[in-house]
Amino acid sequence: MASEHLDLVIRNGLLVTASETFPADLLIRAGKIHALGRGIRADGAAEIDARGLLVMPGGIDSHVHLQYPQGRHRVVSSDDWLTGTVAAAHGGTTTVIDFVEARPDQTWMQAFEVRLAEAASQAVIDYAFHMAFNRVDERSLGEVQSVVEAGISSFKIYMAYEGIRLEDDGILRALEQLKVHGALPLVHAENHALIRYLTQRHRAVGHTQVRWHPHVHPAAGEAEATYRILTLAAQLDIPVHIAHVSAAQVLDVMRMFRANGQPVSGEVCPQHLLLTEALYDQPDEVAVRYVMAPPLRSAADNAALWQALQEGLLDCVVTDHCPFTLAQKQGRRRTAEFRRLPDGGVQTMEPEAPWAEHPLAFDQVPGGAPGIETRLPLLYHYGVRTGRLSLTQFVECTSTAVARRFGLYPRKGSLMPGADADLVLFDPGHTVTLSATTLHQNCDYTPFEGWTVTGWPCMVLSRGEIIVRDGQFLGRPGRGEYLKRAPDALAARS
Ligand code: MN
Repeated sequence: MASEHLDLVIRNGLLVTASETFPADLLIRAGKIHALGRGIRADGAAEIDARGLLVMPGGIDSHVHLQYPQGRHRVVSSDDWLTGTVAAAHGGTTTVIDFVEARPDQTWMQAFEVRLAEAASQAVIDYAFHMAFNRVDERSLGEVQSVVEAGISSFKIYMAYEGIRLEDDGILRALEQLKVHGALPLVHAENHALIRYLTQRHRAVGHTQVRWHPHVHPAAGEAEATYRILTLAAQLDIPVHIAHVSAAQVLDVMRMFRANGQPVSGEVCPQHLLLTEALYDQPDEVAVRYVMAPPLRSAADNAALWQALQEGLLDCVVTDHCPFTLAQKQGRRRTAEFRRLPDGGVQTMEPEAPWAEHPLAFDQVPGGAPGIETRLPLLYHYGVRTGRLSLTQFVECTSTAVARRFGLYPRKGSLMPGADADLVLFDPGHTVTLSATTLHQNCDYTPFEGWTVTGWPCMVLSRGEIIVRDGQFLGRPGRGEYLKRAPDALAARS
């Protein structure tokens, strides 16, 4: 594209990084940030006037699940690499990190090649992967090195969920191998036995409704698993990143280990900051929207999570974007029934027979919710505008800290000369009412339907190319690039 070669200067904006805000011009050359300063001379460059706008490093979402076949029913999340990354771009996110989850008949590297090919032809922004450490045997332990060399320097460890979870002895062997290669464990911490026991107990007395979902995923089980993974990691002296922290009890555990010198960090999702378990007390066809693990919790938990974000105990705000359409949530389809195209068109997909009795019992509902497009606006409105977060903290937890944690800094997450020109021009006065009908996520609901937020990305650049302007998508499928990430466990300690 011409824009990759033509110099571009963004004038008069308020630049925001994780450490400071300052009015300056920003010059882009060959897709990279070339210079920052007042009154930059750039003869022949294209110009953008950013007066009144915030100019920030593009958002980085390190926890998304695009076209993900979930669980034994293999229900496929409704955003593919095209629709999901287009939605991300509209919301100011210019890098995503998704997951590779090998099937039993695949090696990890084979599964990685498949995911890479899916993304390469479709993604409109840059992307990377975590590897799911879904088995511990000679083959998988022997593959860690090649996986790290392929640019996957973080591994997801599930402590719950049949088929992918590891037992404690497996976790110890996995951590030992990750330490050898400097890779970072990203942990889904819940007590598996407790979930299974409580589910069986509720099902046995006829509790099938979605309102029982949070009852089988108690905060105590999340806190116990967090305590256990940190105990094991402390023995091996390896840092740990806790995925989607949802409860105050978990924060207490993290604080205690951190006070004892254990490097532990964690991420939080907008839904756990902003929504509560009261949403489950609705008819099932509505309540299915909020089935996710960990579940939504109390208002006191919301407040504790905000506090942890302010103090830096939690350092990343990510989405766990894992959308399913209402038909999928209700067990009427395995794949989405429509596909929103970047030009605004909608493709209708093949009819499908229902895959199970529906409505589904709470433990059969596909887990996850959409959020890839609404992360920055929600966090700006409810974080910055309420005074909970400063502008620099906003950039820190949506971009810079994520880049540091996962080995992408300073190429991503910074405004330093030499960094990729992934930028968001954010209009702090633009008000939007969120609705599934106007968002670009390939889903027929949003958990934030009807919420009004002030502050929205009006222009988004990826490697110097304008990919979204005033709500219009200008990129093209397949322009996104795979990002190799460096093993960075030591840096992850900071
Ligand atoms: Mn997830």
